[in-house]
Amino acid sequence: MYRNNPSAWYFCEVRNEDPNTVAVVGAGLTGLVAAWRLVHQGWRVEVFERYPQAGGLVATFRVGGEELECFYHHLFTTDREYVALAQELGLAEHIRWLPSTMGIFSAGKLFPFGTPASLLRFSPFSPLDKLRFALSVLYLTRVRKPDRFSGVTAWEWIRRYAGRRVLELVWGPLLAQKFAERQGDVSMAWLWKKVQLRGQSRGAGGLREALGYMDGSFGRLVRTLAARLQERGVTFHLAQPVLTLRPTEAGLELRTRQGLRHFSRVLFTASPRELLQVARDSLPQGYQQQLARLEAAHALCLVLELDRPFLPFYWTNVADDSFPFGGVIEHTNLVAAERYGGCHVVYLSKYLFANHPLWQASKREVFETFLPHLPRLNPGFSPDWILAWHLFKAADAQPLVTCHYERQLPPMVTPIRGLYHCSMAHIYPEDRGQNYAVREANRVAALISQQRPEPARGR
Ligand SMILES: Cc1cc2nc3c(=O)[nH]c(=O)nc-3n(C[C@H](O)[C@H](O)[C@H](O)COP(=O)(O)OP(=O)(O)OC[C@H]3O[C@@H](n4cnc5c(N)ncnc54)[C@H](O)[C@@H]3O)c2cc1C
Repeated sequence: MYRNNPSAWYFCEVRNEDPNTVAVVGAGLTGLVAAWRLVHQGWRVEVFERYPQAGGLVATFRVGGEELECFYHHLFTTDREYVALAQELGLAEHIRWLPSTMGIFSAGKLFPFGTPASLLRFSPFSPLDKLRFALSVLYLTRVRKPDRFSGVTAWEWIRRYAGRRVLELVWGPLLAQKFAERQGDVSMAWLWKKVQLRGQSRGAGGLREALGYMDGSFGRLVRTLAARLQERGVTFHLAQPVLTLRPTEAGLELRTRQGLRHFSRVLFTASPRELLQVARDSLPQGYQQQLARLEAAHALCLVLELDRPFLPFYWTNVADDSFPFGGVIEHTNLVAAERYGGCHVVYLSKYLFANHPLWQASKREVFETFLPHLPRLNPGFSPDWILAWHLFKAADAQPLVTCHYERQLPPMVTPIRGLYHCSMAHIYPEDRGQNYAVREANRVAALISQQRPEPARGR
């Protein structure tokens, strides 16, 4: 009855005196895993999510009757926290480890890349470049701690130790693919960890890489987790963006379109920029400045459904800045096209910042910008091969890990009592990924539980 009377509804919902309830903002993997841990640690949990479905960046759509990620996804063999979670949920048998191949488009040609044999055949490098590339990679795989890399940019380090040509022909374009015009600001600690984990995910001698994929998409784990949370009494407020968040005497006040709610604890799992937007008025100046320094690139993925294969590799880096995209990920070179009704799935990936015209462009404009470049990669390509295409955009999809990032990173326990923040920006020195979302979610849930007050005597 009170639902028809806004003021009564407001009155009923204004207080949540229960100190055992945590509001989790964001139903991406971080929010879902944290909710899962918190429920097991005895908390009641309510999840608030901006979009009508859970999953965040692991959102999926259907191709040929099969779920597929809107943004390309795979696992590395080092992704142990994710695999452990899949085991816990009874999903580990759905993870398949599949042979992967990598290529690079450089100096107008497509080359295999990523193995010692392919390095020897990579003709844009001189023999000296090959030696310096190989030695620098070998060195990076041997160093165990990020300390010596955190104060130097990847650009400076590569130029100094691997040489200008190695930077310009390989590492520079790879950094540009992820960080656009901010490529020169990326910390060497980030690149070091990427090289190291990539090395570990290869077999002995760096010959073969296996990548993991979940049958039925990584959305399977998201859906299972959301269903298990609901079984355990977690309430999902979907399509309910948190509009503002502020401390009040009644607790932390969340405002959504449904009204106001109060919680003693809130875990915010969206980006630092989003936290600034919803809580700016309440956050101390110094903390606001810390959050504002944590920048991230946005992502565009154009997904093509083709009637035949496009390139011979799963992953192709486009080391040529005259292309409007930097990566071609041919998903069906990892997972058989038969799964998608015979469609060959190709992601064209671009990371950019808000000032880039393509970020504001319409879907068709992005498609028409990318399309003329496809025959440069495969001269036989014709637009007739395209059965369907889809464009997906995600803001703040790739945190920019700058020098001494570890010093800039604000703690997960914020200066506002009861408010915790755990997001992709908190992953360091690894690159963001599902595995680290699971790891950090485990960590923040443990922190929240550690700070739980002792139950009052006599209760
Ligand atoms: C292009 C691309 C490729 C990737 N490839 C891989 C890969 O190969 N392997 C891999 O493991 N990982 C990959 N990732 C990374 C992986 O998707 C992320 O690490 C992981 O999904 C992050 O989860 P999250 O919950 O931290 O963030 P998100 O998924 O961003 O979740 C945050 C959630 O908060 C919600 N939200 C935001 N603001 C509000 C608000 N005000 N109120 C309520 N809700 C709000 C959002 O809607 C979202 O659902 C990729 C990501 C991208 C973008």
